[in-house]
Amino acid sequence: MLWSGWGDPAKASELPEPIRRLLQDMLGVRSPETPAVSFDEVRLPAVALPPSVLAELSDVVGAGHVRLDDEARIRHTRGKSTPDLLRMRLGDGSDAPDAVVLPGSHAEVLDLLRICAEHRVAVVPFGGGTSVVGGLVAARQGFAGVVALDLARLNRLISVDAESMVVEMEPGLRAPQAEQLLAAHGLTLGHFPQSFEYATLGGFAAARSSGQASAGYGRFDDMVVGLTVATPRGTLDLGRAPKSAAGPDLRQVILGSEGAFGVITSLRLRVRRAPAERVYEGWRFGSFAAGSAALRRLAQDGPLPTVLRLSDETETMIGLAKPGELGGLAADAGCLVIAGYEGTAEEVGLQRERASAVLSGLGGVHLGAGPGESWAHGRYSAPYLRDSLLAEGATVETLETAGFWSDLPRLYDAVRLSLHASLGSPLVMCHISHVYGTGASLYFTVVTAQTADPLAQWDAAKRSVNEAIITAGGTISHHHGVGRDHREAYAEEIGELGVEILRGVKDRLDPEGILNPGVLVTQD
Ligand SMILES: Cc1cc2nc3c(=O)[nH]c(=O)nc-3n(C[C@H](O)[C@H](O)[C@H](O)COP(=O)(O)OP(=O)(O)OC[C@H]3O[C@@H](n4cnc5c(N)ncnc54)[C@H](O)[C@@H]3O)c2cc1C
Repeated sequence: MLWSGWGDPAKASELPEPIRRLLQDMLGVRSPETPAVSFDEVRLPAVALPPSVLAELSDVVGAGHVRLDDEARIRHTRGKSTPDLLRMRLGDGSDAPDAVVLPGSHAEVLDLLRICAEHRVAVVPFGGGTSVVGGLVAARQGFAGVVALDLARLNRLISVDAESMVVEMEPGLRAPQAEQLLAAHGLTLGHFPQSFEYATLGGFAAARSSGQASAGYGRFDDMVVGLTVATPRGTLDLGRAPKSAAGPDLRQVILGSEGAFGVITSLRLRVRRAPAERVYEGWRFGSFAAGSAALRRLAQDGPLPTVLRLSDETETMIGLAKPGELGGLAADAGCLVIAGYEGTAEEVGLQRERASAVLSGLGGVHLGAGPGESWAHGRYSAPYLRDSLLAEGATVETLETAGFWSDLPRLYDAVRLSLHASLGSPLVMCHISHVYGTGASLYFTVVTAQTADPLAQWDAAKRSVNEAIITAGGTISHHHGVGRDHREAYAEEIGELGVEILRGVKDRLDPEGILNPGVLVTQD
């Protein structure tokens, strides 16, 4: 993973000349005033942890699994939001952990938490490091230091119960590794977020992730049937049946807790048979409203494709434009729907026929496999483009929310208006990324020219758009989570009593407050 950007540096792409010109002409993008620093120029704070504490940590995991080198510390600094990348490009390593510790078992995690609680050392559970909401930045104040607890060594497929279609896996498995292990048994999780190449199972559960095929396979929190969690107070083992009426479901307290209540050390997950066939295709609707109505019909009356998403007019226009043909942007491109079907050949055939009848009955024009295949081919490549845009002097960031169908048009307008009010004339694109019977999520991509202080520029825009989302009745996050960036808006969403409940849970599980301090909820 590129330390100041996304993914495999070999896959980095140059911006095509027509796009560069478009950014300059349309958005006024100019080269950034401060060029990005090199790896060696990142400024790191001195290691604050006393040698005696480091020795205790090494006794648990072995000296080779406690890393203090710059390389490890820089690679565990923050996550991958645009502000995170902008800070790294400026050489700001001030949030680096003092040490990166790699436990090899649940028992070791328990021991590490005990030592850290004893010495008041903050602990940041670290999966793939792809958080985009500040979920990997611990408050340092009042702590002897900060440890990044990297779960990469917990990477086993522990068991497969083919009869129940339940597997037990460790949290440090990255999604591609997990899919590979399951493929050997003819199984799949079906969880394909855009961060698929790097994110881990523990991170998916801790941040309630949702994948691009979640219409068919469900969100990640739907897949979790059981969890083992290490806390400073001991072990929690949750989930012993597919459904239960035995009181409130405590799994739900851990799902979405973003490392603030405990460290997930194993997951029991519902799996599906790997599909024999996958078909993705495109449909065009005249407007976002007409496309939304069609998606709602499929979500409410079925059949629901495995993948279902709708781009608004702007996203469709930009997405359809071929870089070489930007002069002739199709303003009447309408709105693109991607519908994908996965399963046996028979299931795919039947689903596709029935869904197609609904889509064409509601005004959709079938575009064939071309747009579907090109979406599937490029589904993990957009984050690479962000790095090129940042280097060019454009800020590009994404944000997301969800609401009930009846609130969705208001929510869509509120977000766009807020971004325009804060950023002048940004390019704002949106798609409906996930659908439910009762509502849907809206996923926005914003591109704007950087000012002299792009961090302050985005911070102001983000504050006002968070406010706009809450005022318009949306949730502050459908799948990115809370972290530090959404903490205040989340508190508004759940109210004072809701915050007190979370604090109560944290006080009980983590009395010293060492777990991810400042993430999800503050303790005062
Ligand atoms: C380019 C890009 C695209 C993305 N696309 C999507 C998308 O399509 N869908 C989506 O849902 N999200 C997406 N995300 C957000 C992110 O990938 C998800 O939040 C993901 O779930 C994080 O997984 P991770 O392993 O990287 O976790 P990390 O970023 O390492 O951690 C996330 C949070 O969970 C905590 N945590 C991690 N592991 C554990 C554990 N074992 N126990 C307890 N706490 C833990 C961390 O402390 C942190 O607070 C995207 C991010 C990027 C950068």
